[in-house]
Amino acid sequence: MVGAQCDNFKPMNDDLLSRSRAAVWHPCTQMKQLEAVPPLAVARGEGPWLIDTDGRRYLDAISSWWVNLFGHCNPRINAAITDQLTKIEHVMLAGATHAPVVELSERLAKLTGLGHAFYGSDGASATEIALKMSAHYWRNAGRPGKNGFVSLKNGYHGETVGALSVTDIPLFKATYAPLVRHTVQVPTPDARLAEPGETAEAYALRCADALEAHLAGHAATTAALILEPLVQGAAGMAMYHPVYLKRARELCDRHDVHLIADEIAMGFGRTGTLFACEQAGVKADFVCLSKGITGGYLPLSVVLTTDDVYAAFWDDATARGFLHSHSYTGNPLACRAALAVLDIFEHDNVIAANRVKAIEFTRVLDEVAAHPRVRHFRHQGMIWAFDVADATPGFSARLHLAALAQGVFIRPIGGTVYAMPPYVTAIDEMRALADALLVCLSDPAV
Ligand SMILES: *Cc1c(COP(=O)(O)O)cnc(C)c1O
Repeated sequence: MVGAQCDNFKPMNDDLLSRSRAAVWHPCTQMKQLEAVPPLAVARGEGPWLIDTDGRRYLDAISSWWVNLFGHCNPRINAAITDQLTKIEHVMLAGATHAPVVELSERLAKLTGLGHAFYGSDGASATEIALKMSAHYWRNAGRPGKNGFVSLKNGYHGETVGALSVTDIPLFKATYAPLVRHTVQVPTPDARLAEPGETAEAYALRCADALEAHLAGHAATTAALILEPLVQGAAGMAMYHPVYLKRARELCDRHDVHLIADEIAMGFGRTGTLFACEQAGVKADFVCLSKGITGGYLPLSVVLTTDDVYAAFWDDATARGFLHSHSYTGNPLACRAALAVLDIFEHDNVIAANRVKAIEFTRVLDEVAAHPRVRHFRHQGMIWAFDVADATPGFSARLHLAALAQGVFIRPIGGTVYAMPPYVTAIDEMRALADALLVCLSDPAV
């Protein structure tokens, strides 16, 4: 059932939609529902705007699944890729190398303090790489029993079979359980779960105690703890106190367990610092990066790790080397896009500019935060989220359609509405988003 506002949104390009329905199996979509919730037929993009095949404009309020940082068709990223196209589009990274991948690795090493970069194509492959590398490290270190993994309740690390084993989404878990290796989930420090009167920090420390209890009993069989630092995105932008990361680092050190920071969604400025771990002063053993790394242009992921990990694989024996590859590893076009993104961060002083912007954006959302249906309004860096108290089944699709009618592209996670706008979004555009959300929330049919 779509409400009155939603009825205003009618996809015009029926031909493209029906062909898409017939030929494209859309991700994260029950295809039977495509009729009721049609995909937006996008013809072009311009800054934070998506423009459909009829020329209507929609604010891309969730940065095209959290990947876009500097808008669509960004001239500087376009120029970098176009230039690279005239040089070399791709060459395999086994037996060959090229300037873009070398320069990107050097720059990421400077930014993270982790000097060895292993590339993949998307986020889930970065998770796979980090898990395999950690377990293989312990094997090379003569401790092959350390091959288990711990992750946080409600954590998300991708959906390939290995990544699914540490992703804690009940629906996925139940469906694919027979394919997936058993791992352990410890309580999430998600601040919404604090007891009344308990601070986010106190709750995070209580969760760290649970992690400690687990590691104390299982360190001998545990290779690594993997977590999303500061914000669990797919859980519904669950935010937590940085003290948890600090304690997790200490506990991993004490129990000889690797810490894998999955910064795939939160890296590249999303939480207000270039990387989320910085806010806890924590250096992980592995950092997984993807999504924003190319500004939302091309699939690229990377796992960065320490000299210690690297050294454990340095040997004459092939089997002691890291056994992993993807055909498009370190693609030069993607690396050039990533270098252009790092240039923009530097030249435009993006982190500092976003800090000012975030204060203004939060003010613009005051009225949304105060709306009677809104609970747990929260904000971290360039992410805003709230839960809708009375959300009934189908709320996410209804709000999505209602927002389209208001010129906003947004997709709630269950009853959680969030905005994760591209960093080039202007204050007026954020105001338009706030107005659209108010209209949607005040529609009794949403
Ligand atoms: C999106 C995401 C992934 C998976 O990345 P894909 O490119 O979609 O495979 C992994 N971890 C986190 C935290 C993510 O948000």
